[in-house]
Amino acid sequence: GDVLLRASDLAKHYPLRAESLTKRRRVLRAVDGVSLDVRGGETLGIVGESGCGKSTLGRCLVRLTDITSGRVEFDGQDITTLSARRLRRIRPGMQLVFQDPQASLNPRRRAGDIVAEPLLIHRYGDAAAVRRRVAELFDVVGLASAHLDRYPHEFSGGQRQRIGIARALATSPKLIVADEPVSALDVSIQAQVLNLFADLQEEFGLTYVFIAHDLGVVRHVSDRIAVMYLGEIVELAATEALYSAPAHPYTQALMSAVPEIDDGPATVKGAGAHRRERIVLTGEVPNPVAKPTGCTFHTRCPYARERCAVEHPRLTETASGRRAACHYPLDGQR
Ligand code: SF4
Ligand code: MG
Repeated sequence: GDVLLRASDLAKHYPLRAESLTKRRRVLRAVDGVSLDVRGGETLGIVGESGCGKSTLGRCLVRLTDITSGRVEFDGQDITTLSARRLRRIRPGMQLVFQDPQASLNPRRRAGDIVAEPLLIHRYGDAAAVRRRVAELFDVVGLASAHLDRYPHEFSGGQRQRIGIARALATSPKLIVADEPVSALDVSIQAQVLNLFADLQEEFGLTYVFIAHDLGVVRHVSDRIAVMYLGEIVELAATEALYSAPAHPYTQALMSAVPEIDDGPATVKGAGAHRRERIVLTGEVPNPVAKPTGCTFHTRCPYARERCAVEHPRLTETASGRRAACHYPLDGQR
């Protein structure tokens, strides 16, 4: 499909309080120069360890937060600096599903009212029309409309996330950014909710940005995957290409750190199948306030050479047609 969402050199920096008056103010570079396209109807997975900036990136993409620099375009419109009033006009088209349904649903409101809220904000219609639409949304996400008047605590975790999804769907968005939507759920429930995402995409032609720290989960749902490290995208590839031969050493390390998952997230394969060369990451994730010079991964990279500590690699096409931010991409031959 055509490009629905485009980020260009996007950055989100948080100034931190100076430790003392004589010291320079430090800056947390949560998102640091991200460029990506999301095509209509596809799922772009964003994966990385906690603290890599993926949630912040998700919030920037739907303009739930201000952007420090760079640009975001949605559906042909530059939304980087839109006023709150003009943002409200495009808000129905782009929605966020949150990680923790427990925390993102108001416990004192009935489920039906929670789902109705965006309809009321965007003046969907009269009370009867809103009620019909809410019942329809309950049906779409697999909840019984007889339970409209229940409170969030009367639902299971998986059902609560379905309420969050129904709320996101209410205004018929084109784009949904889902921020770790299953990581707070039991493993046995995760597959059901992922299948719901897949069904909804097919039914409504939705475009997803799907954020996860779990490589098994993103593999299951994504057409393409962006791998993030310290606020930057270090690799961007079609899902199968990424898994069959990662180009960036960090991607390879992430993959060797998790058990391989097949047939959906509920089945974890035994250690014997499809073993790949294991890389053990040494050292801690560096503090994003004091990012390493050169390649931000060089302090942990088993392949680092002198150049890596001084020269920052940009996300570019490698010899084998992968896109990786690495001076010495793996390209299958290392
Ligand atoms: Fe490793 Fe160097 Fe590539 Fe960075 S640029 S990932 S340090 S080989
Ligand atoms: Mg997060």
